[in-house]
Amino acid sequence: MADTPFFETKETFPGSLADQRDAPQDVPSKDSSEKEPSRSEWASEKKQETCEVDLPRIERAVREILFAVGEDPDREGLRETPQRVARMYAELFRGLREDPRVHLQKFFSEKYDEIVLVRNISFHSLCEHHLLPFMGHTHIGYIPDGRVIGLSKLARVVESVAHRPQVQERMTEQIADLLVQELRVKGVAVVVEAIHTCMTIRGVRKPGSVCVTSAMKGIFRTNPSSRSEVMTLIYGERR
Ligand code: ZN
Repeated sequence: MADTPFFETKETFPGSLADQRDAPQDVPSKDSSEKEPSRSEWASEKKQETCEVDLPRIERAVREILFAVGEDPDREGLRETPQRVARMYAELFRGLREDPRVHLQKFFSEKYDEIVLVRNISFHSLCEHHLLPFMGHTHIGYIPDGRVIGLSKLARVVESVAHRPQVQERMTEQIADLLVQELRVKGVAVVVEAIHTCMTIRGVRKPGSVCVTSAMKGIFRTNPSSRSEVMTLIYGERR
């Protein structure tokens, strides 16, 4: 562990694979109350219906920012900027009005029990500290336990989790935890590589720096050779 450059947090959610390791996996559980703790981090159905973005409020705020920096929001080039920015935020934060778990409800029964890996899922998000974009690629590997998910659904989960104010470390964990909680897997590996514009265009200004985070669950966490296999699949010759 000490010699790998990859970040990993020690936290696990309640209900994560680490906690369920000893539970009988093959028995279809009729009682889903245990699997479904109230996780307020995802928009509830009610919230999704009612939570509309308050565009006029954003417009007013953007106009204020323009005043505050010494601009004239009424000059021709800026006149429609507040509306444009409002629509932009509604788009970039659309994940707030969606529960990413909706993408993980359809499965296919398959005997396949080797690594499934989707590499280079591109994404962009906004860092919650500066509201500046960070963008890059996500690699998702998992080992199925009797059923697989459509590959495009993994990309949809990344989109949903990325389209909200985020930090890369949390985003990485959230994607891994969602797959553990919804998919019934033997292991999940998520690696995110991103460039943060809050580091490249402001502050320390280090263009070219790349932040890499990883979350390993189940067998990828406990078995070094499985972890090494998935990392080789992700990085190939680059490693
Ligand atoms: Zn930032």
